Amino acid sequence: MAAQILDGKAMAQAIQQELAEQTAEYIQNTATVPTLAAVLAGDDPASDVYVRNKRKDCERVGMESVLHRLPAETSEDDLLALIAKLNKDQAVHGILVQLPLPKGIREQRILQAISPNKDVDAFHPENVGRLVQGRPRFVPCTPYGVQQLLIRCGIETAGKHAVVIGRSDIVGKPMAILLSARGAGGDATVTICHSRTADLAAHTRQADILVVAAGRPKMVTADMVKPGAVVVDVGIHRTEQGLVGDVDFDSVREVAGYITPVPGGVGPLTRAMLLLNTLTAARESLA
Ligand code: NAD
Repeated sequence: MAAQILDGKAMAQAIQQELAEQTAEYIQNTATVPTLAAVLAGDDPASDVYVRNKRKDCERVGMESVLHRLPAETSEDDLLALIAKLNKDQAVHGILVQLPLPKGIREQRILQAISPNKDVDAFHPENVGRLVQGRPRFVPCTPYGVQQLLIRCGIETAGKHAVVIGRSDIVGKPMAILLSARGAGGDATVTICHSRTADLAAHTRQADILVVAAGRPKMVTADMVKPGAVVVDVGIHRTEQGLVGDVDFDSVREVAGYITPVPGGVGPLTRAMLLLNTLTAARESLA
């Protein structure tokens, strides 16, 4: 029997609806509008689309977004000066610096300059440390979205074997931390696979829950999946056949119990979690 589709798009819409209500309540109670400052440096067309979508999402739930657009030849110092200004600006609750940054700008230096209280992408070492210790302020948007999907679809993670392919700071590592943390959407036994893993399929075939964030189009095929497993595809690739993920959807759906589509799976949830983190930042700013 073909796998049940985990509809990330519909779930993200439901979360946005909840956030719109919570945002309206926040505005009513504080006379302040939760505000996200987006910094876009350079002219990468994909980044342009991502930032535009994130700003539209803010509007849709009643939040404010302010775009700071910098030319590709911006210096690291200029960017640091802008971040220092946004850190101080009490009307700004969340700061998002769209990656990748133009050549010559050290990403780590920029991300560490963002105030941990406004770090809605959760890339600052303080926020990573808090996540690892199980007391997060913000959770990185993509793994947070995947965890919400599992929780809201009633997929049990406790005691399950979760295999994560990928060890990036943005997806793989925080995903493994969340799945192994105590509590809802956690308590799993986690294996992290990466580009140096020997016999990847031997690991993936043991997964009750398989999260794929390798950045390799259609890399996971049906023979790599345990029958009935939950398969979450984080990958996004623009191809001539349209958007595809890291999972060979057509073959894997015949084996898996549940599967996320691309598009319409993890992507919309990632965007919804950025809004949730922005509202959290606004709430925390009052504390
Ligand atoms: P990345 O390139 O930083 O990391 C990829 C990871 O996969 C690395 O840790 C690497 O060791 C591992 N890997 C690569 N090839 C492998 C192989 N053959 N076998 C096992 N492991 C392998 O990428 P990332 O930023 O983590 O993103 C991963 C994918 O997810 C990309 O396609 C990206 O576009 C997508 N993405 C989607 C969203 C979303 O909202 N849906 C968000 C972020 C990233």
